[in-house]
Amino acid sequence: MSCSRFLSICMICLFWFASCTSDVKDEEQENAQQNLKIIEVTSHDGRPFDSGANHLGTRSYNGGPGGGIMMQAFYWDVPAGGTWWNTVETKIEDWGNAGIEAIWLPPVSKAQNGEFSMGYDPYDYFDFGDYTQSGSTETRFGSGSELSALITEVHAQNMKVYADIVLNHNSGGALEYNQYTNDSTWSDFTGVASGKFLRNQDDFHANAIHSNDEGIFGGFSDLCHDVTNVQDWLWNRSDGVGKYYKNVMGFDGWRFDYVKGFSPGVVNSWNNAVGGFSVGELWDSDVNYLDWWATNANSSVFDFACYYKMNDAFDGNNLSLLNDDMMWKRNPFKAVTFVTNHDTDEIWEKMLAYAYILTHEGYPTIFYKDYEVWLDKERLNNLMWIHNNKATGTTSILYADNDEYIARRNGWNGNPGLIVYLNDSDYWKERWVPTNWYSTKIKDYTGHSGWYPTTQGGGWVKIQAPPHSYSVWSPE
Ligand code: ZN
Ligand code: ZN
Ligand code: ZN
Repeated sequence: MSCSRFLSICMICLFWFASCTSDVKDEEQENAQQNLKIIEVTSHDGRPFDSGANHLGTRSYNGGPGGGIMMQAFYWDVPAGGTWWNTVETKIEDWGNAGIEAIWLPPVSKAQNGEFSMGYDPYDYFDFGDYTQSGSTETRFGSGSELSALITEVHAQNMKVYADIVLNHNSGGALEYNQYTNDSTWSDFTGVASGKFLRNQDDFHANAIHSNDEGIFGGFSDLCHDVTNVQDWLWNRSDGVGKYYKNVMGFDGWRFDYVKGFSPGVVNSWNNAVGGFSVGELWDSDVNYLDWWATNANSSVFDFACYYKMNDAFDGNNLSLLNDDMMWKRNPFKAVTFVTNHDTDEIWEKMLAYAYILTHEGYPTIFYKDYEVWLDKERLNNLMWIHNNKATGTTSILYADNDEYIARRNGWNGNPGLIVYLNDSDYWKERWVPTNWYSTKIKDYTGHSGWYPTTQGGGWVKIQAPPHSYSVWSPE
């Protein structure tokens, strides 16, 4: 078929399509307009999330259109044998090319369980797999030099690396008679091979200061952050944990473990003294609690409220729950959103959840196993591209019911933003929505829909989404 013939057929089609749909459209659209109650979720100036530390390079997404994306670069019980740092290192370049801005590593120092430990039972904060103690030389993940090589590669790719900091509790100390409890406790850490951060009963609860803090974890020795020796070695000294990890090891930020176990002032003090990006694991669905902690810790916080709402919404077929309060709606610049992590994995409709966090505000996290093993990598790469190129500006929820949810990112600084359409039903859905784009041809950047509609003069347009899937619209 020649081009001109094809064109003329197309023109006829267009005229026919335009004339025969206009009546239907008016009625449909009137209904849509009447039923539509737009919820303005956020009202800041529209600037994107910036995780800081842009000293490293010039990747376009680094502080660019949607802000960064974090990869949780491990899962529970990754292969032991000291190979994990090497495994992660081989993936850094691909992750960077796919749009990952930063990676989060498991605790890097020697723990009581040595080569078998995932690191959450810290023993010697300055043994990165270099000293033979706790039954091994290397950690489960590798040696100190393998860790350094990984960090070097991350920076070579203009990415950032966050350390997992466990400072609520310690494990693996020697038995000593404890004057505060009048019995014997495993609180003698004066024998750590690194010779740094020596501590004993005076540094744990109960002690001369008080009997306890906000929380203990299992039967572990509970560090007291009111003790000068502890404060010095964790964040004040230039050769202490925080400053050594940052300035010598090269870490760019922190994921603080189990922050329910101590005052938010601890993380605040660390951030004040050490600097770098910071996110706390406050495992709680209560938005007020998350917001309170983030403010007082001067830190981002994982958005467990969003996590539980997504679980109820997507798996319970009740997408209107996405109207509810979440940390990212309170403060998008202090919310780290996620779909799964090494501790909890409950959401079945994971691609809907990833489509949600990668198009909405907050600092989204991709879980290693979702990306490398369980889900369609190309689909995730597509959503990451959308995040890094189109997910800008404040958020308005345009529509939500049991199985449909439509939200608009309003754009920022010349970037057009997007409209995301989530469909949790068994059928294709379509709906008229108001855009910020006028007489503009738009398309679905996921490729799920083949429509290329043009918005009306007033901005209205009809979009569609496939069953148990999503579409993301923006000008062509
Ligand atoms: Zn204390
Ligand atoms: Zn505690
Ligand atoms: Zn479903």
